[in-house]
Amino acid sequence: MSSSAQIRIRDLHKSFGENEVLRGIDLEIGEGEVVCVIGPSGSGKSTLLRCVNLLEEPGRGQVFVGGTEVTDPDVDIDAVRRRIGMVFQQFNLFPHLTVTENLTLPQRRVLGRDKAASARTAAENLARVGLSEKADAYPSALSGGQQQRVAIARALAMGPQVMLFDEPTSALDPELVGDVLAVMRMLADEGMTMMVVTHEMTFAREVADRVVFMDGGVVVEQGTPEQVIGAPRHERTRHFLSRLL
Ligand code: ADP
Ligand code: MG
Repeated sequence: MSSSAQIRIRDLHKSFGENEVLRGIDLEIGEGEVVCVIGPSGSGKSTLLRCVNLLEEPGRGQVFVGGTEVTDPDVDIDAVRRRIGMVFQQFNLFPHLTVTENLTLPQRRVLGRDKAASARTAAENLARVGLSEKADAYPSALSGGQQQRVAIARALAMGPQVMLFDEPTSALDPELVGDVLAVMRMLADEGMTMMVVTHEMTFAREVADRVVFMDGGVVVEQGTPEQVIGAPRHERTRHFLSRLL
C-alpha cells in the first residue's frame, strides 16, 4: 500500500495550547480507498482532517499527500490544497452567487481557468451530482441537501486527487441525507480516494473499505467495517457504537 498511498500520516501530534488533541496518529489511505473516521465529539476527527490540508498547522509528525510531504516547512500550501477537495458540515456557498458562479469562481481564481473552460467543468460536475437544472439558482433557493451537493460539485470541479468530508450530512434534515450519501457513494464507486468523518454507520458499513475509530486523539482501532462496526475489539468502540443505536 505505501507505494500507492494517497494520504500517509505518521505519528501526527497537534496541540491547542496545553490541550493535546492529536496524540500520535498513524494512518495510510491508498489510492481509491474510502476510509470512514468515526468517534465521539471532541476526539480530534476534524483536527485530523484539517491537518491533512493544512487548515490547521500540524504539530510533530509527518503528513504526505500523493508523494508530497505537506508538513515540510517549504511546501507550497496552495499547491497542496489544489489537490485536496474538502466538504464541510456547513456548505459555505457564496449566497450572492448563482450555483454555476459558485463553481466557476474558484476554478478561475485558483486554477486560472478561462470562462468557457470553467463553465464547462461546472456544468459537468453539476450533472454528476444531479443538479443541472439548478445551475442558475441562488443557494437560498435550494434545500440543504442540494446545497451540499453543490458544495461537492464545487470541490470536484477543481479536479482533486483526494476528497475529505467532515460530517457532510450532520447539518441536514434526515430526509435530505440520502441524496448526499448517494453522491458520495457514486464517487467511491468511481474510485475517488476519500476520507470521511461521519456518524452514518450504514454508509460506513456499505461504502468504507476501512473504518477508523478515534477517541482522545488516538486511533483506538481500525479495520474493515465488519471488524470495527460489526465486531469491535475495544470497549471504547463498543461503548461509542452502542450510544449511536
Ligand atoms: P471532533 O471533530 O472529533 O469533534 P475536534 O477535532 O473538532 O474534534 O476537536 C478536538 C479538540 O480540539 C476539542 O477539545 C476542541 O475543543 C479542540 N479544538 C479544536 N479546534 C480548536 C481550535 N481552533 N482552538 C482550540 N481548540 C480547538
Ligand atoms: Mg468535528
